[in-house]
Amino acid sequence: MTPLRHRVAVLGGGISGLVSALRLLQQGKHVTIFEASGELGGLGSTFEHEGHAMERFYHVMLNSDENLLPLLQELDLEDRIVWKETKMGFLHGKKLDPFNTPLDLLNFGGLSLWGRIRTAIGGAYIAKFCNDPKGLDSISVSEWLEGLFGAEVFNRLWKPLLRAKFGDLFEEVPAYWFWSRLRREKGGTKEVKGYVRGGYRLIAERLEKEIHRLGGDIRMRTPVFAIQDTPWDVQLNVSGRWEAFDAAISTLPIPVLGNIARGPLANMLPNKNLIYQGVVNAVVIMKKRLQPYYWNAIVKKDYPFQGLVETTHVVPSSQTGGRHLVYLLNYCQADSDVYNQTDGDIRFQALKALRDFNSKFQPDWVEDIKVFRTPFVEPIWPLGYQKLKPRMRVGDSRVYLATTAQCYPNVNSWNTMVGIASDTAARVKFDLDNVYNARNRAEQSLAQSH
Ligand SMILES: Cc1cc2nc3c(=O)[nH]c(=O)nc-3n(C[C@H](O)[C@H](O)[C@H](O)COP(=O)(O)OP(=O)(O)OC[C@H]3O[C@@H](n4cnc5c(N)ncnc54)[C@H](O)[C@@H]3O)c2cc1C
Repeated sequence: MTPLRHRVAVLGGGISGLVSALRLLQQGKHVTIFEASGELGGLGSTFEHEGHAMERFYHVMLNSDENLLPLLQELDLEDRIVWKETKMGFLHGKKLDPFNTPLDLLNFGGLSLWGRIRTAIGGAYIAKFCNDPKGLDSISVSEWLEGLFGAEVFNRLWKPLLRAKFGDLFEEVPAYWFWSRLRREKGGTKEVKGYVRGGYRLIAERLEKEIHRLGGDIRMRTPVFAIQDTPWDVQLNVSGRWEAFDAAISTLPIPVLGNIARGPLANMLPNKNLIYQGVVNAVVIMKKRLQPYYWNAIVKKDYPFQGLVETTHVVPSSQTGGRHLVYLLNYCQADSDVYNQTDGDIRFQALKALRDFNSKFQPDWVEDIKVFRTPFVEPIWPLGYQKLKPRMRVGDSRVYLATTAQCYPNVNSWNTMVGIASDTAARVKFDLDNVYNARNRAEQSLAQSH
């Protein structure tokens, strides 16, 4: 009997969808990707400016990215990675201070002398003694940080940064997330970030090429409108009709999947009430460098943005035609006022805000400002999330997940999602092969008994 080639549907053509598809194809499955938009790469996708592809949201990699770097090697992109040492700045009041070395901390004007000493002691304590995250999932990050650093450092340094990332719900975020993030960012002695010449678009293009070479099917501008699980298959409603598959991997945010799930699948979905943080950012395309740091935290009253990232400290100038890219961002929920400001208002605020980073700034340094939003970046992790985290398989259905809601406690990144997508694809293969073998054995014994 010729073995069946299982058909798997992948919902979404971001990094998770592309890697899920690649791994399934490598394991002999037939795969169809359904992507709603006209571009692959999801949150890592790009826009064009004067013939140059630039990321809609800032994206770089770390030299500790244990899943992404081997993938880039596999795609023959390793030689195209450029690594740059980066620095962090801190805008507080009217001052932009570096915030990288013990000397920077000693000179940091945003804290009292005692606050600076507490920061140094707290940081050293975490680096030396907090090797075991046990228990941190059920302690709130605010309780943990205030205990370690004291009220002044917490209120003046950590609280504004946490609020910037998670809004007013930051109190509920587990310390485990913060611990994991500190370890990722400051794993080495120097902070080094990387970027592939050709950009994130090139990574997606190489994945697309490999998927096609292995016989995979990619359907662009094809949103999945509904999905249902039956005893025999999983069915997707696309382009006005239902299509059946042996299994499906969803890379969509949980609320988006919740909106399209039909029948018993809808009840099986985990964490339907997760609250997601979105982001809105202005990408300022400039003729001159604005300021010296890659990433800047902003603790300044009434400043209209929470962070400023000048990616061209890492992104090579060949990528942008010599232009400098400054991302001014606000993490916020999709129903907030900040998220729903008009593009015109955001552009106006951006032009005003840049002067705080460089008093010599002139509006004629700016070539263009683009505004991008996305409602689902990652969930605002609730306390005890380790237990709530969605599993790979939705109940006992044929629907599997490779979505950012699973990355906790790791940082939401391409690196983390490559790992999750590969694991989910392996699980789908395992389950399909077992189902297939079991069905085959049952059919054979039935045939023998007749
Ligand atoms: C501001 C910002 C900065 C970031 N910085 C970094 C960074 O520096 N480094 C890093 O590694 N990561 C970074 N990330 C995180 C990174 O973008 C994510 O981890 C990653 O892109 C998630 O990939 P994904 O494929 O899981 O989801 P997504 O990229 O969201 O892909 C989901 C895809 O599904 C499609 N889709 C949605 N609904 C449907 C439907 N009904 N039918 C079919 N398709 C559908 C969407 O169009 C999309 O293409 C950043 C993210 C943001 C927002």
